[in-house]
Amino acid sequence: MSVRIGIVGVGKIAQDQHIPVINASPDFDLVAAASRHGRIDGGNNYTTLEEMLGAERLDAVSLCQPPQVRFDAARVAIEAGKHVFLEKPPGATLSEVEILRELARTKGVTLFASWHSRYASGVDTARHWLAGKTLHSVEIEWKEDVRHWHPGQAWIWEAGGMGVFDPGINALSIATAILPPFFLADGTLEVPANRASPIAADLHFVTAAGTPVHAAFDWRQTGPQTWDIRVATDAGKLVLSKGGSELSIDGQPHALPPEAEYRGLYDRFAQLIAAGESDVDVSPLRHVADAQLRAERREVEAFED
Ligand code: NAP
Repeated sequence: MSVRIGIVGVGKIAQDQHIPVINASPDFDLVAAASRHGRIDGGNNYTTLEEMLGAERLDAVSLCQPPQVRFDAARVAIEAGKHVFLEKPPGATLSEVEILRELARTKGVTLFASWHSRYASGVDTARHWLAGKTLHSVEIEWKEDVRHWHPGQAWIWEAGGMGVFDPGINALSIATAILPPFFLADGTLEVPANRASPIAADLHFVTAAGTPVHAAFDWRQTGPQTWDIRVATDAGKLVLSKGGSELSIDGQPHALPPEAEYRGLYDRFAQLIAAGESDVDVSPLRHVADAQLRAERREVEAFED
């Protein structure tokens, strides 16, 4: 039986991925949306989540708004007995996500903190190849042009929007899936004089075994864009590039299945609902929070859109 689902916040990611992927999924039926400006075709449209929940018989909701407003919507949906899919990052703080996890457990609904980059084609193969190998060093480079990818998105620069960690957390979601645990030893956050959130971050993590894991996130890169993770091991060098969609080992490319990140996410959400389970891994968000605790903040020149 299909899961009757509603989308909240019909913006870029809802249009690009959630709507087409849900419409193509055998497990879900897109029934309605709640959005102040956005609309879906082929379903009923409401301005608020509360109106949608009052009018529709839904099993689940996908929350596709910015992280600052996700907690209130998730709480309302869970209290109404709905299964909840959280876009990444699952919240603006760690504590709010813990509260949601407990609320979902109490209400007996599924809560899924999604990390789409973990479903990039090369990630599982990379994890399997790295298992049991001795790591020498890890270099993470996530550099893109914020003007190209986030035009006019004010929330991303505001407190809770996470700035360059909005893409950087995707790298951290892959790193936490394929590497042993690591923690931040020191780092630098570069924050434009007119913004609340960083435009760049230089982070020196280390594993318990002492392997350095260096991450450089930067939103000022024009020209070719870089979303790479390079891991040097005792058995050769693994490179995950293009956000995890390409993989090479010692320079030899690996054949991978085509991109299907959001299909993977919705398959997983359906499995969790069927099994009566939740999946709420906050480790990528914890590293972002740790960066605010442990890294030095430096003011850099003002950023204008
Ligand atoms: P967006 O287009 O700026 O926002 C999504 C929708 O949320 C908006 O259309 C708006 O809908 C609603 N919204 C925006 N600001 C709001 C506010 N202050 N209060 C209440 N609702 C608000 O953002 P997006 O790029 O889709 O990203 C949304 C989430 O998905 C973020 O957490 C992001 O990290 C994640 N994500 C984005 C991408 C991407 O490629 N953009 C990729 C993967 C994940 P209404 O005005 O109609 O209510």
